[in-house]
Amino acid sequence: MTSLLELKDIECRYEDRPAVSGLSMHVNEGSIICLLGPSGCGKTTVLRAIAGFEPIYNGQIILGGKVIASPTSSLPPHKRNIGMVFQDYALFPHMTVCQNVSFGLRGLSRLAMKTIAEDILGVVGLAGFGDRYPHELSGGQQQRVALARALAPNPDIILLDEPFSNLDIDLRERLSLEVRTILKGQGITGILVTHDQNEAFAIGDQIGVMYEGRIMQWDTPYNLYHDPANRFVADFIGQGVFLPGELIAPDTIKTEVGSITGDRAYEWPQGSKVDLLLRPDDILPDSDSHLIARVINKAFKGAEIMYTLQLPTGRRILSMFPSHHDHNLGDDVAIRIDAPHMVAFPHEA
Ligand code: ADP
Ligand code: MG
Repeated sequence: MTSLLELKDIECRYEDRPAVSGLSMHVNEGSIICLLGPSGCGKTTVLRAIAGFEPIYNGQIILGGKVIASPTSSLPPHKRNIGMVFQDYALFPHMTVCQNVSFGLRGLSRLAMKTIAEDILGVVGLAGFGDRYPHELSGGQQQRVALARALAPNPDIILLDEPFSNLDIDLRERLSLEVRTILKGQGITGILVTHDQNEAFAIGDQIGVMYEGRIMQWDTPYNLYHDPANRFVADFIGQGVFLPGELIAPDTIKTEVGSITGDRAYEWPQGSKVDLLLRPDDILPDSDSHLIARVINKAFKGAEIMYTLQLPTGRRILSMFPSHHDHNLGDDVAIRIDAPHMVAFPHEA
């Protein structure tokens, strides 16, 4: 696979304050990547830099082997062949759906524009909606029109800035999967930014977790969850708690609930204070175990129940049990810690 887009060590600033620094990434043709991070971490700024609306003060942006932005040069947005979909749809209210979708098509006959618009409306599941006005459509339908408008000029890359955050949660999940199918079906390269990890997991082949203008880890959803590179990613992705302990062998950590041996070796000196990441799925119900914890809270999730359990030491942990393990608040349950894919970081107070 060839790298279609490459960002090399880019920096963006507002006034004198950096909003994005030392950011590098490359996007292969046909892949869909996500930038995931909390509000204010610089996601929109990166998209605006790629689209050509934000200057870069360091580094380079390379599209199809050509430098399109550097501190001394910038290809104007309309020459980049990049499509963009915004959170607030930004449809033109006085134009029909068909007119909205064909808005970005230049130099074509009226009939050619209409044909392309109708084709692309079919792709996004809105065949026959061309004569309606945006206010006659639901939020999800409006967002599909916005997607169709961005796809119509046949861009090399499509950028999506939190495109589903105004939609309710069911629709959000359905539409994220649908958008993935559409982009993959059209072979279009996509970059989506979001603060919602479920959305990122549903759409992204690869995800870059961002924090304060930098990428903290580039990885697959599976690795971000099971093998976070640092504490920020461990905290931000999924749920879990840190259990303090002491490294007594490269692969073994002594904790308040006993020694836990994993499948990786740490090179820190023996006796180092560490924090072991325990995910809710690392804690299993086990009636043969001598480790007893008390149910403090429970949240029914359908197939599973998320329990907050209190250990004999008073520390609270989260555990996800299959939902037929139905316990009441105050019950004592026997548990086993099963965390072979051990993840630990140097202890922090
Ligand atoms: P995100 O999209 O991840 O929420 P943004 O890229 O919008 O983050 O913003 C990154 C940082 O830059 C934030 O601290 C934000 O306040 C600041 N910022 C964004 N746009 C502007 C602007 N036009 N002028 C000044 N500061 C801005
Ligand atoms: Mg934003």
